[in-house]
Amino acid sequence: MENAINTAAGDRQLIAFRNALLRDAAGQVEGILASGVDVTEQRRLEADLAYQASHDPLTGLYNRRRMTELLDAEIRRAWRHGTVFSVILFDIDHFKVVNDQHGHDVGDAVLQELAAVVARRLRDIDHFARWGGEEFLVLLPETDLAGAHRAAEDLRALISATDFTGVARVTISLGVAALDEGETVQGLLKRVDDNAYAAKTRGRNRVV
Ligand code: GH3
Ligand code: MG
Ligand code: MG
Repeated sequence: MENAINTAAGDRQLIAFRNALLRDAAGQVEGILASGVDVTEQRRLEADLAYQASHDPLTGLYNRRRMTELLDAEIRRAWRHGTVFSVILFDIDHFKVVNDQHGHDVGDAVLQELAAVVARRLRDIDHFARWGGEEFLVLLPETDLAGAHRAAEDLRALISATDFTGVARVTISLGVAALDEGETVQGLLKRVDDNAYAAKTRGRNRVV
């Protein structure tokens, strides 16, 4: 059993309590040994580790590992209940030029700002992850292809109209895909990746 206690110094501590029965040679209970161990630091470390395992340190978004878990959960829901969901994969256009012209730190700041701007615009039920270097994935539950396309176009317009600190405008290219019946996560990701790539080859700053 763990209990939070307030110390005389005003700190909050988590104490793990344990009881053991003490018996004599005949097996009769002689008493109870109660002990309490301060596990505050241990629990804090465990929470830190869990956070680090699921989040990207630069942007604070979910990382690829956590998003993969969320996709797996969403596809099981879709298979079981016949629900629909969509994904948006987007990549910053000519980001290498941003780094080359303004430096890696400014590039990092652009990634952070972009993540915050997009996160503010998404719905509470959407999931948003840093998928790779300058590539991001949005999972839109209960959203069909038309709805996801509207959301992607909205994000494209939002980013192209945003002033990023220290750089001129930044644009993104977005792929959209809705889960097909019987499709796997891999199949869906392959299609959305193909669409994001097509958005690049068709001129960037667009949704496919
Ligand atoms: P495209 O329009 O085709 O996407 O061009 P691009 O220059 O964005 O594409 P490319 O994949 O060639 O370059 C991606 C760049 O993103 C290269 C890499 O240095 C940069 N990048 C990836 N992760 C980070 C990061 O965490 N911080 C910074 N500053 N740059 C990053
Ligand atoms: Mg890229
Ligand atoms: Mg890019």
